[in-house]
Amino acid sequence: MEISEIRIKLLENQRDKLRAFASLTVDRCVVVRDIKIIEGPSGLFVAMPSRKLMDRCFDCGGKNHLRARYCNDCGARLESGRGESDLRGRPKLYADIAHPIHQAARDFVQGAILSAYRSEIVRSQEVGYVAQSFEDLDYQAYEEEWPEKELEE
Ligand SMILES: [Zn+2]
Repeated sequence: MEISEIRIKLLENQRDKLRAFASLTVDRCVVVRDIKIIEGPSGLFVAMPSRKLMDRCFDCGGKNHLRARYCNDCGARLESGRGESDLRGRPKLYADIAHPIHQAARDFVQGAILSAYRSEIVRSQEVGYVAQSFEDLDYQAYEEEWPEKELEE
């Protein structure tokens, strides 16, 4: 697999641990967007794009995030601790949309993205720095719905 391009969108003055967004182009053919670079307790790591897992309200059938305490549609109180747990016993609240399928690929992708991130930080300190273009992404929306997930990792 050849990584043809990595774009990094640095985020500054974040209160949470999100440091940047990245997009990755594979073999000049496929783009994976919405990759997050997060400052974790043991250093930076890469989170692949993910979606919230949902389940249905027993009363009205409305869909709710597994962490929701009340139904978005009918307001019924929802049980806590819904959904499955991961191997470490933590609730599984998100599912990756695109991800490497084995450890070697994961290491390769993460290494390349973190390397691009560090280069982007160096570039950003140069006079006349222009951030890479990401006009296809609505980061504002992402920052608004920024979940609790990453703070737990
Ligand atoms: Zn409901």
